[in-house]
Amino acid sequence: MSMNRREFLHLLAVASAGGMALHGEANAAQVAATNFYDLPKFGNVHLLHFTDCHAQLTPTYFREPNVNLGVGAQFGKAPHLVGEALLKAFGIAPGSREAYAFTHLNFAAAARQYGKVGGFAHMATLIQQLKTSRPGALLLDGGDTWQGSGTALWSNGQDMVDAALLLGVDIMTAHWEMTLGEARVKQIIEKDFKDKITFLAQNVTTADFGDAVFEPYTMRVMNGVKVAIIGQAFPYTPVANPRYLVPNWTFGIQEESMQARVNEVRANGAQAVVLLSHNGMDVDLKLASRVTGIDVILGGHTHDGVPAPIKVKNASGVTLVTNAGSNGKYLGVLDLEVKGTAVTDVRYKLMPIFANLLPAEPAMTALIAKIRAPHELKLSEKLAVTEGLLYRRGNFNGSFDQLILDGLMAEKGAEMAFSPGFRWGTSLLPGQAITMEHLLDQTAISYPWTTTTTMSGATIKTILEDVADNLFNPDPYYQQGGDMVRVGGLHYTIDPNAGAGQRISAMTLRGKNIDADKTYKVAGWAPVAEAARDAGGEPIWDLMSRYLKSIKTVKARKLNLPVIKGVAGNPGLTTSAI
Ligand SMILES: [Zn+2]
Repeated sequence: MSMNRREFLHLLAVASAGGMALHGEANAAQVAATNFYDLPKFGNVHLLHFTDCHAQLTPTYFREPNVNLGVGAQFGKAPHLVGEALLKAFGIAPGSREAYAFTHLNFAAAARQYGKVGGFAHMATLIQQLKTSRPGALLLDGGDTWQGSGTALWSNGQDMVDAALLLGVDIMTAHWEMTLGEARVKQIIEKDFKDKITFLAQNVTTADFGDAVFEPYTMRVMNGVKVAIIGQAFPYTPVANPRYLVPNWTFGIQEESMQARVNEVRANGAQAVVLLSHNGMDVDLKLASRVTGIDVILGGHTHDGVPAPIKVKNASGVTLVTNAGSNGKYLGVLDLEVKGTAVTDVRYKLMPIFANLLPAEPAMTALIAKIRAPHELKLSEKLAVTEGLLYRRGNFNGSFDQLILDGLMAEKGAEMAFSPGFRWGTSLLPGQAITMEHLLDQTAISYPWTTTTTMSGATIKTILEDVADNLFNPDPYYQQGGDMVRVGGLHYTIDPNAGAGQRISAMTLRGKNIDADKTYKVAGWAPVAEAARDAGGEPIWDLMSRYLKSIKTVKARKLNLPVIKGVAGNPGLTTSAI
């Protein structure tokens, strides 16, 4: 279906008027919808970009973090800005729709006012309009698409593959896709995607001979302009996720081969070069300063909703770096004006997808209904009711993570618990029922086993130090993009600015210092070791659904947060109005 501008505006008007009691409110919503989505076409190369949707097909709430610390050279720079500092840096009015989309501020109240975000059916309406107004436009998917929901887990990613095909994705790269295993990834690319979606990753090679596993780039002619799109999968996949799921493939940043690819496409006549990246934003910012010849990086992985591109200088010019958030919450629209071999002008807008402003597209609505129908009963099972706001994002802890830690300790009879610093997982408002679907939004992975481990105090410190270094190493090439492991029971102090192995101190349990030689019972989940897979263990969603049903009402969580040293005045941290 294609739609001209007049039809699109009419559709927006009808959608925004729906459910509005007062004429004035309907009018205001219509003005908001038009302001947001009626984006004038610019230039001759058009790329639409979403990333890290984590299999969220339907609209959700998603709270942005109030802690996203930048250390070293990244101090105070995007994406390490939260709350008021972010609003100020990008000129966004407090209390506005954009403030709700891009920050955590007054989240529950703003969510009630402005509604849910994302949803493939709502995004589809916008994509159709943009593709109509921008002939030749390509839709790019940055990856982390096939994982993150119950239906994606149960269908081995098939629901998302079908949805991506219907959405009109042209090109994609990957990260969590790999956790379905090598064979499944290959099967989807060779069968479902054949002649439809181009899957790119210049940095994945075979472990034995170093051969390319996927196409590294694609060249397209758009409105007479030769455009190269290079793909970069998540470099740390075999470290951050189980190695045994991709035993024959190597990853890494592969900066030299990236430069070689850029040179190659330029030599072949590319007039514009775009990198579809799953590096994470800090890695992309560093890469942009070292690799020359890339015009724009469309980035993902770190879930940073960054309203405007960051300009990075390098030896041959400037590369723009963007990051398009997560959970289907945003669509990035990049318009380039290309003359000769140069990009002469650029427009970029990261558009929040407000489900109550964009009408649902009928064909996608039907597909989603078909996908969900066999599972609806299970997905909608009510497990408990939450009294407080539940969310995950933040460098150190989130209230849904705290709930998981509390559940693990209670059900496993453990004195401590660890939960991974994943950045996916939707948010729930106070008073909402927690359904099985919500629980799976937080836990649906292909290695869900819960564990009970006896660990020495020394081992516990090593684990915390390792994860802290993945997050706060001043060299972005050593950052893996997740957040700090969430801990239950254990208290500690962290100095993000200290060196590797020196950041963690003052570890205590129930007021007593942790003894390096003493052992402790630690519960956890999502183990990456092959031995843990072989050992089995109850899936986290079974343990948590039992726990939630037993407590029935989830009181507002008190977050177990570390004492953080040396962060006074850091604009990546706020404790106000969360
Ligand atoms: Zn990722």
